[in-house]
Amino acid sequence: MNEIKKPRKSLAFYYTIGLIVIFLINFLAIPYMEQRRVKQVDYGTFMSMTENREIGQVEIQDNQILFTDKAGDQIYKTGKMDDPNLVERLHASGAEFASEIVEEPSLLMSILMSWVLPMVIFILIGQMLTKKLMNKAGGGNSMMFNMGKSNAKVYVKSSEGIRFADVAGEDEAKENLTEIVDYLHTPGKYKEIGASMPKGILLVGPPGTGKTMLAKAVAGEANVPFFSMSGSEFVEMFVGMGASKVRDLFKQAKEKAPCIVFIDEIDAIGKKRDGQIGGNDEREQTLNQLLTEMDGFEGNNGVIILAATNRPESLDPALTRPGRFDRRVPVELPDLKGREEILKVHAKKIKIADNVDFNKIARMASGASGAELANIVNEAALRAVRDGRKFATQADMEESIEVVIAGYQKKNAILTTQEKLIVAYHEIGHALVAAKQTNSAPVQKITIIPRTSGALGYTMQVEEGNHYLMSKEEIENKIATYTGGRAAEEVIFGSVTTGASNDIEQATKLARAMITRYGMSKDFDMVALETVNNQYLGGDASLVCSAETQTEIDRQVVELVKKQHQKAVQILLENRDKLDELSQFLYDRETITGEEFMNILNN
Ligand code: ADP
Ligand code: ZN
Repeated sequence: MNEIKKPRKSLAFYYTIGLIVIFLINFLAIPYMEQRRVKQVDYGTFMSMTENREIGQVEIQDNQILFTDKAGDQIYKTGKMDDPNLVERLHASGAEFASEIVEEPSLLMSILMSWVLPMVIFILIGQMLTKKLMNKAGGGNSMMFNMGKSNAKVYVKSSEGIRFADVAGEDEAKENLTEIVDYLHTPGKYKEIGASMPKGILLVGPPGTGKTMLAKAVAGEANVPFFSMSGSEFVEMFVGMGASKVRDLFKQAKEKAPCIVFIDEIDAIGKKRDGQIGGNDEREQTLNQLLTEMDGFEGNNGVIILAATNRPESLDPALTRPGRFDRRVPVELPDLKGREEILKVHAKKIKIADNVDFNKIARMASGASGAELANIVNEAALRAVRDGRKFATQADMEESIEVVIAGYQKKNAILTTQEKLIVAYHEIGHALVAAKQTNSAPVQKITIIPRTSGALGYTMQVEEGNHYLMSKEEIENKIATYTGGRAAEEVIFGSVTTGASNDIEQATKLARAMITRYGMSKDFDMVALETVNNQYLGGDASLVCSAETQTEIDRQVVELVKKQHQKAVQILLENRDKLDELSQFLYDRETITGEEFMNILNN
């Protein structure tokens, strides 16, 4: 990996040399020449020097006389006089008659030296570098520099490596990849029947769901070398470098076949080529090279390419067509069972109390990715160490969920009494609206201890089991719940605060999706008015409709949210005494569990 830095070093190196040369020329050579320059003297000086036998060489030209002193350091020049005996006198003084005393270095010469020469040097350096690059890009391997050499990390024979057992959950993905492992173990079985493995497999899913782990596990299970490189590593400063890295990577891989080549974040090079003027040449060349390499090797030579991305929709269709990355393995966020398993896998690495309820923690951490769960376990261990305990407990785990999701407790953030009261009412407002609509405990826990993420309170929702469909009523209830916090502020304080900005955003998002994507408005029937851009990264959407429709959508969104907001206010007004009681409880204790909440609500 050091190799990759060399080119930049040498570029800077050559330019430094260039600068030094200019410096030398300007500050040393030119003054020297200046000094050697001809000094104009009058004829009298010439005559007296002749008499004093101080002349070294002399040259009598048509209209001037050039001469040097005895040492020959300085050239003098004087006009020519009508002096008949000059030659004899010079001869007598011991001067040497020369025919070519150094010409005066002309102005032209000094320009050449101080300006043109450095420029030439620079151009030469530039050409030298480009030539090296071009050669390299053209496949030359005998370069002085290791530019464009792939720096894929190789894990040979990963005996210490990751196995499928280390990847918890993700059963479908594992099942899919087991076939690859089997093929790498016994290719004969497949060759016999004439089946060829897919050359490329695309692991698709949100960040932190274990795509890299799965790829490593395939190599670990099959006991073959694993080459790994990130898509962004291919894209270099110089056009052509990425392509040559791809070539190099595949060359190495073919030598080590059977093996796994893993390209992380392939969207960095595999984005759709859009043919824009001034598009990214380097990226396109790299992609083209990758396509060429994938076409170049036969199906059965044992190199299997796995690639990961969380933006599958942005990939170039050429990359996903049959013969290239034609198999797609979804690696989704873990469900409840998956989360529990992931927690257990990572808990094995730390010392943890026996009575920890992983299922409960998994339920609390709904929506967390594998990476976040790993982080939660580690945070719990860190917390145990901080408190001087020998092992992590249930409480550590629960607190660390909040840490990972909402940030650390802000120890010295002091809310004024009034603010704290508002936050308490706001959070209870959400919970109460939710509870009254569904008649069940809406939350695991609410705390009003400020977090470093900026949240003033934190509500841990109850996981409603695995739930894939949502009815219109459920979404409406959810919107009402989002507005519940603000509604409580209005009901109790008669004024509103900035605390509801996130609620507003979420409520609007849901309301908008109902109308534009789920076909839940009466006017638009089943017409899609919006397309989702990247489903794994936030899922932002763009409208696909006329301006008039847009206006109408906006109007309906407002109407929808308004209606739910009114419903929330109504619920709170009807349960005013419970709202006060619960909020007071939360204000005093700063934390309320789902159980305590339901007890107060129901008695
Ligand atoms: P991705 O490549 O999908 O972004 P990684 O494979 O790099 O995610 O996962 C990051 C970390 O998250 C892993 O090192 C591992 O500790 C943890 N992790 C993610 N998914 C799982 C899983 N299914 N089982 C166990 N650990 C996981
Ligand atoms: Zn809120």
